[in-house]
Amino acid sequence: MKIAVLIKQVPDTQSVLKINAAENWVVEDNLVFTANESDTYALEEALLMKEALSGEVVVCTLGPERAGQVLKDALAKGADRALFLRDDTFSQLDSGGAARVFARSLKEEKFDLILLGLQADDTGDAQLGPMLAEELNLPHVTLVVHTELLDGRLKVKQELEGGWFQHIEVDLPALLTIQSGINKARYASLRGIMAMKSKEIKQLTAADLGLNSSDLMPDQTLQRLYLPPKIKETVFLEGAPEEVAAQLVEKLAHEAKVL
Ligand SMILES: Cc1cc2nc3c(=O)[nH]c(=O)nc-3n(C[C@H](O)[C@H](O)[C@H](O)COP(=O)(O)OP(=O)(O)OC[C@H]3O[C@@H](n4cnc5c(N)ncnc54)[C@H](O)[C@@H]3O)c2cc1C
Repeated sequence: MKIAVLIKQVPDTQSVLKINAAENWVVEDNLVFTANESDTYALEEALLMKEALSGEVVVCTLGPERAGQVLKDALAKGADRALFLRDDTFSQLDSGGAARVFARSLKEEKFDLILLGLQADDTGDAQLGPMLAEELNLPHVTLVVHTELLDGRLKVKQELEGGWFQHIEVDLPALLTIQSGINKARYASLRGIMAMKSKEIKQLTAADLGLNSSDLMPDQTLQRLYLPPKIKETVFLEGAPEEVAAQLVEKLAHEAKVL
């Protein structure tokens, strides 16, 4: 099995986010960055498949110089080699553009399986998987919560809305977007960290991939990023029970207007 895993570097979900002056992204100074959560489960699923069937796991990211860290972490966990899509012109990509760039970098390698997370924790678009599958003309299943390899096929369980699931069989090659919690993602071992240092991280630019400015042109642009207005407030009423009851009646009558 030759498996590609896409991993995005995103701000840690515990970060305190501030919106930048241009209101088009967050202030990145002093942010802690980490691998997108669902991508870590996609990597684990790939490593488990490789351990069961042998083969190769190739991790791939697109981002600024700092994003190379997610590749090093994945190589330390057991991935075999990495592709780093690194070009300043990639900074304006929307999901469609990113799908075109990933498609160019993965197409010639003829992977049996491409795995990625169900969505990126920073932008939350959940579009890259289906768009990349379309670019590569592959069958795809989103929100996968279980995989089982059959003879040359893959049986997967997909999460639907409202607590429902469905079971689907797909031919390989295929693309899956993985739901968080499908497995227990491993930590890198000391041996893995040492081994990582000798593994290949291949950098590819737009020119290396034969992409021109029209391939990278976004169809979607972010107009404005803002914090949601605070419209609800919890008020704690204090005092003796009679005083609290009187305050409550007052508020129900004059603020909530339900009495
Ligand atoms: C269990 C569960 C809980 C959820 N909870 C929330 C929630 O609390 N809040 C919230 O905002 N959202 C939630 N969602 C997500 C929400 O349902 C989806 O965002 C919404 O249905 C729109 O999704 P979608 O447009 O990405 O695709 P869907 O309409 O859900 O997908 C239909 C099909 O179209 C495919 N598809 C989706 N996008 C594309 C594309 N760009 N190109 C080609 N094919 C595409 C999908 O792969 C899928 O096979 C939840 C989803 C699930 C499954």
